[in-house]
Amino acid sequence: MMQDGGSILLIGVGGQGVVLASAIVADAALRAGWDVKQSEVHGMSQRGGVVSSHLRFGRRVHSPLIEAGQADAVVAVEWNEGLRALPYLRRGGPLVINLQRTVPPGACRDRLGGATTYPALALDALLSEVGDVRACDAMEIASRIGSPKAQNSVLLGVLAPLLPFPDEAWRGSLDDHVPRATVAANEKAFAAGRALGFPAETLAQAARAAAATNGYAQGRGRAARLEITEAWCKGRACEICVRVCPERILAIDSAGGGRGADTVRVLRDDACTGCRLCELLCPDFAIAVHEGA
Ligand code: SF4
Ligand code: SF4
Repeated sequence: MMQDGGSILLIGVGGQGVVLASAIVADAALRAGWDVKQSEVHGMSQRGGVVSSHLRFGRRVHSPLIEAGQADAVVAVEWNEGLRALPYLRRGGPLVINLQRTVPPGACRDRLGGATTYPALALDALLSEVGDVRACDAMEIASRIGSPKAQNSVLLGVLAPLLPFPDEAWRGSLDDHVPRATVAANEKAFAAGRALGFPAETLAQAARAAAATNGYAQGRGRAARLEITEAWCKGRACEICVRVCPERILAIDSAGGGRGADTVRVLRDDACTGCRLCELLCPDFAIAVHEGA
């Protein structure tokens, strides 16, 4: 527990809500009576680039920036970014890390054969290196609750017991920052994250996530079925999946399936290799890739 203040680094990739998660932590700190400073660094955030936020709270804070080895906790919404942020974590500090992986197109060396340069979900190795690892499949937990978009609230629930903020500060901040219609789902996700036991409960999750990971990491192309949730798709305003699909089988449909808004559609279902790049990079969870034709 950081009784005299603390430094938190939040990190992930574009579209994962790192900035919003950081705002929730900052507001919870303010509600708890702390002085807070926060800064954000955006990379190529609309194309899956890194996004990080430095946040420091204390009796009096002059700068938000955290030096290497000085973060009291790191919260990573994406696996690889969590590994890359490790130099910031102080010795013995907790790493809250999501088992979600966003494989950048550049890491896919062989789109049909399956070679990738993305690091494996090796939770055992991470535990022996860092010690205090609080890893969970936040997306799976949030999906079970019925709201995959609430995955960051699961991670904030994991972080909450580490910080000296009362429950009402967390709850007030969460409720004021998430869309009104999703308050109940986010509160549930937060409570689910808070209730997790580490590492016992999450080692099994890591094994499952590693087994279910994308076709590239598994070294195989495979038959796949695409499920598109049109209501969540930003269509032409986004087009990320259209641009990253190695098979060029996604396109924007201006007719929007009769919805009056453009959306993405599949041109050739049978040409999909199941690589899951579209699913991993869609910022709105509008595409799901299922195994089997
Ligand atoms: S499915 Fe996702 S990535 Fe593709 S255009 Fe829609 S919002 Fe963008
Ligand atoms: S899973 Fe998505 S990105 Fe990969 S081939 Fe199929 S449609 Fe394209």
